[in-house]
Amino acid sequence: MKEKKESARTSSLKEKLLMEKFRVWDSLSEEDKVSVTEYAVAYKKFLNSARTERRCVTEILLMATQRGYEDIYKAPKGCRKLFFNSRGKLIALAFTGSKPLSEGVRIVTSHIDSPRLDLKPNPLYEDVGLAILKTHYYGGIKKYQWVARSLAMVGTVVRQDGKVVEIQIGLDPDDPVLSIPDLLPHLSRKQMEQKASEFIPAENLNVIIGGAPYEDKEASDRVKLATLDLLNKRYGITEEDFVSAEIEIVPAEPARDAGLDRSMIAGYGQDDRVCAFAGVSALLEVDEPEHTAIVICYDKEEIGSEGNTSAKSFALENFLFELMEMTGLEATQRNLRKIFSNGKALSGDVTAAVDPTYSEMYEKRNNSRIGHGIGITKYTGSGGKYMGSDANAEYASWVRRLFNDNKIIWQTAGLGKVDEGGGGTVAKFLANAGIDIIDCGPPILGMHSPFEICAKDDIWMCHKAYKAFLSS
Ligand code: MN
Ligand code: MN
Repeated sequence: MKEKKESARTSSLKEKLLMEKFRVWDSLSEEDKVSVTEYAVAYKKFLNSARTERRCVTEILLMATQRGYEDIYKAPKGCRKLFFNSRGKLIALAFTGSKPLSEGVRIVTSHIDSPRLDLKPNPLYEDVGLAILKTHYYGGIKKYQWVARSLAMVGTVVRQDGKVVEIQIGLDPDDPVLSIPDLLPHLSRKQMEQKASEFIPAENLNVIIGGAPYEDKEASDRVKLATLDLLNKRYGITEEDFVSAEIEIVPAEPARDAGLDRSMIAGYGQDDRVCAFAGVSALLEVDEPEHTAIVICYDKEEIGSEGNTSAKSFALENFLFELMEMTGLEATQRNLRKIFSNGKALSGDVTAAVDPTYSEMYEKRNNSRIGHGIGITKYTGSGGKYMGSDANAEYASWVRRLFNDNKIIWQTAGLGKVDEGGGGTVAKFLANAGIDIIDCGPPILGMHSPFEICAKDDIWMCHKAYKAFLSS
């Protein structure tokens, strides 16, 4: 039988009319491929130290100050590379452009908080000769993913005298780790009959931190006492100090290359530190922007953007007022509104990659795939787009053109099938201020799990996309 062959005319018509999906890898030059690998090394290093939002801010500050960024409250007039640090948990950077702020800015947002377990204010107790910590989960977790794995304890204690103490146990390879044991299968008959949302109750997320007693045999709660003694010797803290602390229980394992071909990175906290890293590293490579280029990394996105370090706070406005002062634009509400309404923003956040094992949950024509470039999510929300952010078609067109002109490999993205679930990002809060904004970030597998997976070429493409945008 003769093989059917498409006519040249059909092929050219298809090329003209159809939207195609591209692999990032196919678009890369040999030089690009080296950059992808090198970029992944730097990103993994960032992920491994930036294990909490505060650590993210520290790392980002280090990157920025090395490149000449100065604190907006201390910088001399005329300084063009500025940072705004809110309480060590929200960080914004700006490189002021040649045009006045009122002609609009370019903003890339992201968030640097990730789902985890927080220690309760009175966490430490002893039971059956073990020292144990009570936790309160933060953000959308599947609780069963947090048992039977190595955990680290990272955070900040502010003592009564105001001294700030940094806690870190479990991240160095030689450190001991903490863990939450799971019930043995032999005694799990009842547990295994329960729903997945219930079989590990939140109050069972108790972390074992000690097992050896204090030497005085007559003392009560000897293991708890010995644990407090160790903490006190190492950090100078007491039990009451936990009340004024933010200590997070996070996965102890470092980010690793994944896949035999090392094409991916698996690790904790990539939602959304991947976009924070891509945004910051992009800004640091921008030279002489026309429009003021801003990167802002928010806290508290995972609990609905509440609080004074969140996207609902006035942090961005406050930074913009200072930038107005710095650039000689009168710091008025009217000018602030102009900056927003003439501005453009990308909401950098990860999107759900189609998981072949659960493909029935996704809408394959519209959802994104690993290795196929940065995902553009025109709208978020759940059900009938409730609580979402829906970008204007004019703006979506502008972003598409920018990406195509800069050879950015992009794809459409969305969070699964309609009515299966859904979610939102910080985009809607900025949209409310009047700025044009669209969600834009790399696809990820296992989102919110302690071991999320991203493709190296998607991450690099995301960085390239943000750089093109911040330079526009
Ligand atoms: Mn996110
Ligand atoms: Mn998230």
